[in-house]
Parts: sequence; structure tokens; C-alpha cells
Amino acid sequence: MKIGIIGVGHLGKIHVKCIQQIPEFEISGIFDLDATLVGQVSQQFDVPTFSTLDALFDQSEVVSIVTPTVTHFDIATQAIQLGKHVFIEKPVTHTSTQAAQLLALAEKYQVKVQVGHVERFNPALLALENEVIKPAFMEVHRLANFNPRSTDVSVVQDLMIHDIDIMLHFVPSKVKSVHANGVKIISDQPDICNARITFENGAVANLTASRISINPMRKMRLFQPNAYIALDFLEKKSQIIRISEEETTQALPLEFKDQKKWITIKDVIGPEVNAIKREFETFYHAIKMDEPVSVPLSDGMSAVQVAEQIEAAVQAQGDIKQMI
Ligand code: NAD
Repeated sequence: MKIGIIGVGHLGKIHVKCIQQIPEFEISGIFDLDATLVGQVSQQFDVPTFSTLDALFDQSEVVSIVTPTVTHFDIATQAIQLGKHVFIEKPVTHTSTQAAQLLALAEKYQVKVQVGHVERFNPALLALENEVIKPAFMEVHRLANFNPRSTDVSVVQDLMIHDIDIMLHFVPSKVKSVHANGVKIISDQPDICNARITFENGAVANLTASRISINPMRKMRLFQPNAYIALDFLEKKSQIIRISEEETTQALPLEFKDQKKWITIKDVIGPEVNAIKREFETFYHAIKMDEPVSVPLSDGMSAVQVAEQIEAAVQAQGDIKQMI
């Protein structure tokens, strides 16, 4: 299956490298507005180049869009109208209205669209595939060093969007209310944000994201009646802690009033996969077998909708620097 890659900056190069390891795909070529970069990447990975987007579309059955978020909608619109299957990096589009338009277009042209919510393929999450996840409360921290890339959007669309997607994946309920605070530190968009999201089923999520942190962290803690589950997306591992009535080997005692219970701590290790390679393998499979994609456009749109609610709540708070 011939795939063209649009945008070969930081992540586009990684797409080239990972897709090259999937024998079912053949890279038709790469395109980027930066012609010097195209030459360098072509030489590094020995892949063909295109000097126009039209030429890439002409030679590709599938395209991967790895350009800045604000450009996703225009490029995806063109690709879908030409009947191409499209992989779009996260966030799928800058606005949820654009995502809804793409959804209608993909339906009309009967093409597959998958969104690059790559954390769905993180071994920390894959490790929990056989567990019942029903969080009542979620505490999430995603902290990163500053990087000028992706400052075309706020930290909500840049980083928190990963956790918004996973949160919506885990909580089968509608968002009831959103409270959020954010601060612009370096860029002209919020670089730090904290959001508290309440769902109609009573679940609550407290999400924090920062792109100006010294020590990176990507942790998610899920509290549910029968378990406490800790995911570490950086370390790619998870841990499940349960309280049980029965003593088992290595269980820790928990005494309260006249009760004695036992705490069990289980490390759960997922398959050692390259998440980007895995997401493209699933995309290939969905196209080949005409099955639903693993991360559909509708999920990408839902994540952007919640991101917009968070950004609106941040804006409604006014200028926090002046408040302080
Ligand atoms: P980047 O700035 O390193 O690269 C973007 C490239 O796109 C540049 O080389 C630029 O010249 C090119 N470009 C810009 N406009 C273009 C256009 N109209 N046509 C063709 N090429 C164009 O950015 P990046 O970090 O690689 O991010 C790209 C996208 O990937 C963003 O949407 C970002 O949110 C997403 N991303 C996702 C993850 C993830 O974890 N899934 C991680 C990083 C970035």
C-alpha cells in the first residue's frame, strides 16, 4: 500500500522511520514546505521526494499528515476529496467544527481516517487491556520541557489532548462541567493548565499539563471502588493496587478498627511495542480488511471539543498574572 508523508519535521521523520519497518507499506515519497529538509530526510532514509502536494496525492493511496495542527484541516480536506485514506496527527484539527466537517467528508468519500493519539498504544495502557477500568476519580500529570515546536496551539491541544483522549476512552459518560485555570509563561497561548472535569455519571478528572517543566512526567492515577491503578506513560508500565479480604503471598496487612484486610500490589507490563509502528500497523489492517480504525476521527473530534471547553474556561478566568 503506497503511503505519502506530508511534513517531515520532528515527528514526520519518526513516521518515515517507523513506516519503513512495516513491509505492507511502501513509502511513495515525502513532501514538506521546507525543500532543504525534504532533501536531508530523503537522503537519510532513502525515500523519494515530491515537489508538490498534488504530486504526492497522485502517487499515494494513503497519506500521513504530520504538519502543524493549524494546517491539518486544509490538507486533510484535499486528501479526502481525492479519495485517499488519511492518518492525521493529534490534535486532529485546530477546531471541533473543522473535525465535524472532515467527519462528514470522510463519510461522503468513504475513506478511512485515523488520528495519531499514540498514547493509546503505549505499553502502560496496553497492559490494562484485560482489566475493568471504571474510574470514579482520575489524577493526571503531563509535564514536559519547553520546546518551541507546537506553540501554534495551547498546552491543552499540544499535550493535555493525549490525556483528554484517554479520559474519554475510560469514562463512558458525557462531560457535565469543566473548570480550568491556565497561564501563559513563554508563548502567547497557555503553557500550563489545570482542568477539573465532571462527568454526568459522577466521575471526576483532574488534569494538569505543562510544557515548561524541568522534570518530565506523564502519570495517570485512576481511583475506582475495587482498585487504584497507576499508569506511567514515560516508564511505559502500570501498577494495580487492590484491597482484598484474603491474605495472599506478598500482600501487605491493612488494619482498621476491628477489620483486617490485605493490600496487593501488581506490576502489569504491556507488550514491548513501538507505539507509532503499532498505530500504523492497525491503520493498514483497518484499510486492508475494511474494518473500523483503532482511533477514529470521531474520537479525535471529541477530544478537541473537550479541549475547546477547557480553553474557554481558561479564557473566562481572565488574566491570572494580573489577578496575582
Ligand atoms: P515540526 O515543526 O517539527 O514539523 C512540522 C513540519 O511541517 C515542518 O517541517 C514544516 O516545514 C512542515 N509544514 C508546515 N506547513 C506545511 C504544509 N502546509 N505542507 C507541508 N509541510 C508543512 O512539528 P512536529 O513536532 O513534527 O509536529 C507536527 C504535528 O505532529 C503537530 O500536529 C503535532 O501536534 C503532532 N505531534 C504529535 C505528537 C504525538 O505524540 N502524537 C508528538 C509531536 C507532535
